[in-house]
Amino acid sequence: MAIIEIHNLKKSFGPLEVLKNITFNVNKNDVVAVIGPSGSGKSTMLRSLVHLEEVNGGTICVAGDYLVKDGVYSKPQEIKKVNSKMGMVFQHFDLFPHLTVKENLELAPRLTKRESVTAIQQRSAELLAKIGLSDKATVYPSKLSGGQKQRVAIARALMMNPEILLFDEPTSALDPELTGEVLEVMKDLAKEHMTMIVVTHEMGFAQEVANQAVFMDGGEIVEAGHPSELFTNPKHDRTRAFLNRTLK
Ligand code: ADP
Ligand code: MG
Repeated sequence: MAIIEIHNLKKSFGPLEVLKNITFNVNKNDVVAVIGPSGSGKSTMLRSLVHLEEVNGGTICVAGDYLVKDGVYSKPQEIKKVNSKMGMVFQHFDLFPHLTVKENLELAPRLTKRESVTAIQQRSAELLAKIGLSDKATVYPSKLSGGQKQRVAIARALMMNPEILLFDEPTSALDPELTGEVLEVMKDLAKEHMTMIVVTHEMGFAQEVANQAVFMDGGEIVEAGHPSELFTNPKHDRTRAFLNRTLK
């Protein structure tokens, strides 16, 4: 069963049509790799899913709840519910610089006040252990490497127990020698069957970990399919040209 249904999504910035009839489904436990050239609408699509952008048309349904249906947004309460099912990790980490690692993790759950402080602290300790940064709990982000910051950003997203994690080029801002440690954390999450949509230029990761690859160009999904098929036997010239450029 689809956990995310995206149908006929349209988005324009002024006269610029950035998303044109984007349609695809994500099943529970899927790892979807979204690839495509710069400016093809990948970030706008992800940002629309978590309501950082409002679309001009189409439907987004997450685990049975509509964010927007045929271009009409749900009521704020419903939107909040949909948002709570997803966590997002950005290219530039966006950790709060004035909070320690542990405080970064605990801020959002503490603000929502749905659980005891003890439960929140227990989970932040568990997640820091999981990403191998227990010893950094009390340091500030400025003392971390880029790879460590991004691992903390992933743990922070996991603090809200999302059903789905979205990643927008999580390793693009990192020096090459730091991408591996972040990709490892993401691979572990995939092994634990976390549902993920990952916008990435890491073609190796996409082929190894994803079970669905989506190629976007010019605001459209040109081609989608299993990575083993899409990467080795692309059907469209635009996909082939892009892969030729990037896999060189
Ligand atoms: P990608 O992530 O694939 O590089 P984006 O979704 O960031 O693509 O951008 C798609 C297009 O939308 C680009 O042409 C970009 O310049 C434009 N765009 C993105 N955000 C805005 C915005 N807030 N205002 C105007 N244009 C935007
Ligand atoms: Mg982008």
